[in-house]
Amino acid sequence: MRIRGLTLFLMAVVVVLGPAAAAQIEDGPAQVAPAIGPWLGAARGSVTTVTAVDGGVSLAGLARDPDSASPISYEVVVDGITVASGATARPDGFGEAVGFSETLVLSEGLHEVCLRLVEPRLGGRTVDCLTATTAPPNTVTAKARRAATGILRTTSGVIVPVNGGGPGNWQISTPCGADAVVETGTFIERARVVIDPGHGGSESGAAGRGILEKNLNLDVAEIVVEKLRELGITAELTRTADYRVPIAMRAEIANALAPDVFLSLHHNGGALRRSSRPGTEVFYGNGHPQSQRLAAIMYEEMVDALDDFDVDWVSTVSEGASVRLRDDGMDLYGIHRFSPEITSIITEFLYLSNVPEALLMQQQGMVELEAEAIVDGLLRWWWTEDAGTELGRRFTDSSSSGTGGFDGCVDPALDAPDNGALAVGRTEFLTDQAIALAGLDAQTPLLPALQLGSDPAVTD
Ligand SMILES: [Zn+2]
Repeated sequence: MRIRGLTLFLMAVVVVLGPAAAAQIEDGPAQVAPAIGPWLGAARGSVTTVTAVDGGVSLAGLARDPDSASPISYEVVVDGITVASGATARPDGFGEAVGFSETLVLSEGLHEVCLRLVEPRLGGRTVDCLTATTAPPNTVTAKARRAATGILRTTSGVIVPVNGGGPGNWQISTPCGADAVVETGTFIERARVVIDPGHGGSESGAAGRGILEKNLNLDVAEIVVEKLRELGITAELTRTADYRVPIAMRAEIANALAPDVFLSLHHNGGALRRSSRPGTEVFYGNGHPQSQRLAAIMYEEMVDALDDFDVDWVSTVSEGASVRLRDDGMDLYGIHRFSPEITSIITEFLYLSNVPEALLMQQQGMVELEAEAIVDGLLRWWWTEDAGTELGRRFTDSSSSGTGGFDGCVDPALDAPDNGALAVGRTEFLTDQAIALAGLDAQTPLLPALQLGSDPAVTD
């Protein structure tokens, strides 16, 4: 079900502001309103990022190749008036990525900037709009819906929500939820996608054959973010190394960035029932149609990626895309409860606790394959109106390990004077020789004590 031959082209439009506005831009990226418009229905394009650059604003757009090798015409429409237009050919024909740029001058104030593709197959459609303002940041209305105003990537690489302040005096919440002030870091106001690598620090999650889920989650998440950025789609992580982040803080990071999608990435543990197909699970928030559609698409993409392999799969009754509720009728997972306005899903690709699946996950290219499936799912959700396969259902199951909360949380170092990064937990892939040397049977789980229960720590 992957989109074969899905081709994309990137557009970069540079908007240069007038002298007065340009001076304000120097104060930092907060000058640029991040009110990026929604993807408009079945539209095939979007402005994906707005970034303050030297002397202006850089807009990056993304659009689907309309299955033709003909030149693509475009217009940039500001406040309802076409201010720039052009056409660009795909030099090598069908499928070739193309890019183009424009230079505009805008007066000070709030502007609506729209991108219109004139390619006949797109019907001369306006594919995406955003607002960009030259006004001071405290007049940017787009921030009203968020509590935190963005995130800071600290010098040690830790992601923290920003509650106020500015350069030299950033008021932030630490990963464990304490108030703190840090002087420096990279401020990020918005991201289209937030990827949450489940667990971390003292909470390892599931395990099997030497793989700790927390490390594998981060490995896959980093590749997903990298691939999205290559496509011009802004993406951030909630966790960047091996440290604890309570679920509520992960959601706070997502809420601060107001993304299109908040995806919590996991690998499962605990199932024993043999299955003829992968036991992939994807969960979405109750009563959220867009999350439901994304979950159904993501389930398809993940199973499609795994189905080619001949493996003794396991599953439970909650395979598929489904809603999981507590006894009180609320969503079980904090990822959904704490970010109710955001399209959010939790993915459980396969069962690490099932040795054949852990062995598969150790094969070369599997981490990359999972990341590709996730990116393909996100693109399908954006570019199509596919409903996907749900298979699961709405069910009540309050069982929880009680992890994912604040108890025992230890903050990582936020400042690294030498800009050194924190240690990143890495998945240890054991070779067959190493397993033989250790005197272990290939069917012996290396970390049996961590396999109890289903993937535990995403509930609080
Ligand atoms: Zn997990």
